[in-house]
Amino acid sequence: MRACVIHGGSDLRVEELRERPPRAGEIAVAVGLGGICGSDLHYWRHGRVGDFVVVEPMVLGHEVVGTVDALGPGTTGPEAGTPVTVHPATTCGRCPSCRAGRRNLCADVRYLGSAARIPHVQGGFCERLVVPADQVVPLPEGLAPRRAVLAEPLAVAVHALRRAGEVFGRRVLITGSGPIGCLTAAAARAAGAAEVVVTDLLAAPLEVARAVGATRTVLVSDAPAVTDADVVIEASGSPAAVAGALHAVRRGGTVVLVGLPPAGDVPFPGTVAVTREIDVRGTFRFDTEFTTALDLLARGLPVDAVVTHTLPLDRAAEGFALAADRNVASKVLLDLTV
Ligand SMILES: [Zn+2]
Ligand SMILES: [Zn+2]
Repeated sequence: MRACVIHGGSDLRVEELRERPPRAGEIAVAVGLGGICGSDLHYWRHGRVGDFVVVEPMVLGHEVVGTVDALGPGTTGPEAGTPVTVHPATTCGRCPSCRAGRRNLCADVRYLGSAARIPHVQGGFCERLVVPADQVVPLPEGLAPRRAVLAEPLAVAVHALRRAGEVFGRRVLITGSGPIGCLTAAAARAAGAAEVVVTDLLAAPLEVARAVGATRTVLVSDAPAVTDADVVIEASGSPAAVAGALHAVRRGGTVVLVGLPPAGDVPFPGTVAVTREIDVRGTFRFDTEFTTALDLLARGLPVDAVVTHTLPLDRAAEGFALAADRNVASKVLLDLTV
């Protein structure tokens, strides 16, 4: 089968890999579409994401949809041909986080296309992906694969909003209008936020933000800073934006950090956090929000504008370059069926 494999920084190859049949408890999925994520781009550009360094060839990708190809011996699950997506996390079920019902914080997680472990967990940009059966989720009736492929990043957005607390009737500021920022904007509107302001350094991504329901967008370079938001969701990972989020939230408000800042320490306006009693919360991946996200997509959440390009797998390198160009692209999909 063909797969999109990272060998190190700037060394991305589409190559032939050997398939293996699903074992008991596993399902093989014929992958149709895969979404290129910010973390995939980090692996491609730098050969690492934070502390996770690529030390052996790894299939990238953790946002995939397809159809069931085969079930392992004695395995129960959706029958062959069923349109499905794949929850990218396998959790241990035993660690304190898992036992506390916060499986997204599992200390022993296996996540598709992640170099956090050695050997690395191979990802989903391959024609035939074999995963544990309980990670395979049938698509809701009528949900198009092009929309379903957004379930993973939308689940990140839904979890970030859950971390923010109630947003109904509130004024929400989202800094950064990449796919995560835009999907968070759409989910915040769906959750009843009165106002959803999205900022960015570039004009093109703000168009996507408007298309998915932002009530206002602000080009950071030429507008005064937004102030008095009830909730700020920082989705850019820029150190300046992390500090800016503290200044933009109202007294007693909540700041949720979803964008991953660069490794190391970033400046933090501690005085502001203390004297204005601001809740600062991190948010990481998601758990059962994957199902919530699929449900929102099936109910017509207006997020189609987030997907800007679809390229065949053989042009993966071009797709990655496109996805990295925020003036041109938002979410770029790879089509593994052609
Ligand atoms: Zn992702
Ligand atoms: Zn665990």
